[in-house]
Amino acid sequence: MAFKYRYGEMTWPEVKEAAARSCVALVPIATLEDHGPHLPIDTDLLLCASVCELAASRASDRTVLVPPINHGYSPHHMDFPGAITIGPHTLIDYGLDVCKSLAHHGFERILIVNGHGSNAPFADIIARLCVVHTDALAAAVNYWAAPGVREIAESLRESQPVGGMNHACEFETSLYLALRPELVDMQRAVAEYSHRPSKNYWTDLIAGDGALAMMEHWSQLSRTGVLGDPTKATVEKGRALLDAAANGIVELVDEMLARMSPPRTDHHS
Ligand SMILES: [Zn+2]
Repeated sequence: MAFKYRYGEMTWPEVKEAAARSCVALVPIATLEDHGPHLPIDTDLLLCASVCELAASRASDRTVLVPPINHGYSPHHMDFPGAITIGPHTLIDYGLDVCKSLAHHGFERILIVNGHGSNAPFADIIARLCVVHTDALAAAVNYWAAPGVREIAESLRESQPVGGMNHACEFETSLYLALRPELVDMQRAVAEYSHRPSKNYWTDLIAGDGALAMMEHWSQLSRTGVLGDPTKATVEKGRALLDAAANGIVELVDEMLARMSPPRTDHHS
């Protein structure tokens, strides 16, 4: 049986019923920023929201899809026209207020699904604060790190093993091609590997990062805004990645639903 799952399309009795049914609230969080000369500014937002939409549609009996938090933390992208950034405290307060509202309405499981690398530490903090400040259990995941995505991405990868899937890359461009091909200008797609990896510093969405957690200004890392090789992107890869990411999110939804939270114990008395 298919349920209504888009939070914004529900009436208040429907929201009440979804919370009573123990639905997991999916909260996509992204940003608007440059993605090379070939991809739109809304890349992180479209990709993250679309993964969540597909996941929620596949698990409509046990999820609600909250409208995305469009704006995120992108100050290091401001040398490129297009980025809109909000401050770190604004982002934390905004995300936490959304989660607190959901908890207030009875949602006991909240999964923040992040679509922008530099939001990741804040998404983690929002989830932790939600657990401390509400009765809900909240968690955060980067959609490209959802279970199963890495295996599919590595099996499809034609770009360099480390750094080839980073930003406006084979991974992100393939997903965008699968969703809105008319907005991707593959004629202008260029490969760039200019982030100067060293012994303990490298970065790749799929292969992971080196021990040095570090973010310079994007114009110091890339001339075009690209890190990786978008010329290797295809619609078919994008469809496979979208499918894997949505299934991975559903797996996390089910794991959160299965997790029992025992009562706290105050050991002072
Ligand atoms: Zn991106």
